[in-house]
Amino acid sequence: ADDVAGARLVVAATGITEVNRAVAAAAESHGILANIVDDSALSTATLGAIVDRSPIVIAISTEGSAPALARHIRARVEALVDESYGELGRFLARWRSRIKDAITVVAERRRLYDALLDGAGEVASLVRRGRPTAADEAMTTLLASGARPGGRVVLVGAGPGDPGLLTLNALRALQSADVVLHDRLVSPEILKLARREAELIEVGKSAGGHSVAQDAIHRLLREHTARGHCVVRLKGGDPFVFGRGGEELEFLRAAGIDYDVVPGITAAVGCAAYAGIPLTHRDHAESVRFVTAHCAAQIPPNDWRRLADPRETLAIYMGVGTLSDVTRELLRHGRAPGTPVAFVENGCRPEQRVVIATLTTAVDVAAREAIRSPSLLIVGGVAALGGTLHWYGAAPVDHRPDRRGARDAVQVAVA
Ligand code: SAH
Repeated sequence: ADDVAGARLVVAATGITEVNRAVAAAAESHGILANIVDDSALSTATLGAIVDRSPIVIAISTEGSAPALARHIRARVEALVDESYGELGRFLARWRSRIKDAITVVAERRRLYDALLDGAGEVASLVRRGRPTAADEAMTTLLASGARPGGRVVLVGAGPGDPGLLTLNALRALQSADVVLHDRLVSPEILKLARREAELIEVGKSAGGHSVAQDAIHRLLREHTARGHCVVRLKGGDPFVFGRGGEELEFLRAAGIDYDVVPGITAAVGCAAYAGIPLTHRDHAESVRFVTAHCAAQIPPNDWRRLADPRETLAIYMGVGTLSDVTRELLRHGRAPGTPVAFVENGCRPEQRVVIATLTTAVDVAAREAIRSPSLLIVGGVAALGGTLHWYGAAPVDHRPDRRGARDAVQVAVA
């Protein structure tokens, strides 16, 4: 019993109940903490799982009841509180006394910290991007200017639907947002990840006639950043792929508003993956092209000739409305009639539907299957691979004539 004397913590892992009890009792009588493995009733201390972002350390305890759950939670916390928090902790430690001297009113100081950490100011963002000198300068300016951090915008790509396809940076931006301006395409599961206090504003727009909406979006961006808010501008897919992210940045630059950009998984990449269609499988394609068919009528003949290249995969956005123009022009410029076409409707979402046709049958098949927006069209030899490589959601419906032929042949053989 005296072996424990002088210790601060004793761990008993003998697996023998009487010995463990004796150790617990000895620790108790010496006033020492004891961890008795797999016996939370006897333990006066449990060993939590730890997320170490020194100087920040987070311990997760299940009081010894479910270490596997603690590991699971740790993985989630690790994703949320990434390495950059350590950097932020050291930065704030360096500045703490200077901030205290510069802002003597406690409530004002708290406001400054909230704003710094919610991501509204550029300081935290600079620290995280590994630019300590610039962060120090920004902090000096901030304190000199009466410590009112300016608003900023984070332009974030939300990916095509599955929340698991968000980047860690996107998640962090959502969790530090004061305001989220989101497109209609962004799924509710993703919006649920926004900071609870954040105001969600839908600035939805569908294909066609959204120039008025664009002005309204700019106005909202200006109003909220003027109040010092961190505004997350959340767009489906990637903001720079048919997403008007460029126009919004031009507006922000002209208005002198700070911004960050977080890329997202664009619909072509997400839908192809979730439909089992490798966009550049080398047996079928040498290149992939992201095309918007929104204004198909305006595409000049030369471009159609390039689009008709048999070794190029086309990922066509907003193609449902102009499908007959697209297929007609591709055929007219020499793309083979039997070229596979896959429709991926609601890609990367539980209701995903994949329908495979050919260039000649695509219009009929789309009508028969009532293909709806949002759908991505994949044109090219690779589109057929979705028939065999699919793994997510419902099995694809394959309408290609040779497919039906193959099925008939099997039935004949069986008969
Ligand atoms: N910036 C977005 C594209 C916006 S344009 C991105 O990078 O993905 C909108 C078009 O994208 C839709 O008409 C559709 O063609 C495609 N799209 C977006 N999300 C989709 C999804 N989950 N499934 C299928 N197509 C999608």
